[in-house]
Amino acid sequence: MPFQIVHGDITEMKVDAIVNAANSSLLGGGGVDGAIHSAAGIGLYKECLTLGGCETGDAKITLGYNLPCKHVIHTVGPIWQGGNHGEQASLTSCYLRSLQLASEHECESVAFPLISSGVYGYPADQAIQVASRAIIDYLKDHDLTVYLVIYDKHDYQIDRALHQDLLKYIDQNYTTEPLIPYAAPQAAPPVSPAEEEDDRDHWSSVFHIFQRTSSKDRSSELQAKLEQLDEGFADMLFRKIDEKGLTDAQCYKRANVDRKLFSKIRSNRDYKPSKPTAIAFIIALELPLDEAMDMLKKAGYALSHSNKFDVIIEYFISNGVYDVFTINEALFAFDQRLLGG
Ligand code: ADP
Repeated sequence: MPFQIVHGDITEMKVDAIVNAANSSLLGGGGVDGAIHSAAGIGLYKECLTLGGCETGDAKITLGYNLPCKHVIHTVGPIWQGGNHGEQASLTSCYLRSLQLASEHECESVAFPLISSGVYGYPADQAIQVASRAIIDYLKDHDLTVYLVIYDKHDYQIDRALHQDLLKYIDQNYTTEPLIPYAAPQAAPPVSPAEEEDDRDHWSSVFHIFQRTSSKDRSSELQAKLEQLDEGFADMLFRKIDEKGLTDAQCYKRANVDRKLFSKIRSNRDYKPSKPTAIAFIIALELPLDEAMDMLKKAGYALSHSNKFDVIIEYFISNGVYDVFTINEALFAFDQRLLGG
């Protein structure tokens, strides 16, 4: 998954580089800076002495010493002064400069703390937005895995109006009684009445084609319909990518799916994705709810009102919100699995 929000301590991240929210002296401080220096040991301090400090919005790189990562990238976030003093541009620059340094040093995975959101006072919800946008922008042109590490779950806030609306939707729709039962993938699933109904719909549309078209048009249209009956998840995915006029890269980037995983799906038509990966593609393709259910079924899944994750997904699809990263921010806030692969 190229971009993930995770809960934890950045000093424990086993990645190529972790980012330090440092001060301009680069000689250590409190918060995440103090935690990184004390876990890395004196070697980090000695190397930092040679760097000559760092400007706000810029970044410098060192080795990781006793940390489980190879490098530490030190960046200096802006101090919040009400939002009209270029704080957003400086904070964006921290993420961008750190990512550029990571790429220059051939890092494939990088973990960020929520820069400036502690002692420097940047409001956490806005800091998350700036972090997410900067990281997502960078990932459009670079293959890298980036983690945003949230230390204290209480710091984590999504947009208040969205949060309220989601709470209301969950309250109205979440039930412990399964409305649409979850169908686990199995070798020969029994045909449910709902599936029979779907099949009947499909066959009746095939019959319709037969009735209303000339024999010449009929065979090609029929052929296409019949092929859709047999098509698996991967086939449907590739057909929809073509129908939407997307490139593969546009699709997997929008889905927050790793390029290597996508290549695997391209070369294995029988590939069965996990549910979050299947939904990530559905979001990338901007499918309406009925088509989304259809595609999920191809992977052996369904949406259920007895599952909070499913209710949140249903909320976003029903409201036409097809941004995987916005959805992931909400899923993280509600302690659910994230979309992507
Ligand atoms: P700043 O001065 O840039 O605000 P802080 O260290 O005060 O830096 O806080 C930045 C963010 O880092 C805060 O959200 C804080 O909760 C978080 N943080 C503190 N310790 C850790 C840690 N060990 N791992 C990840 N994040 C941390």
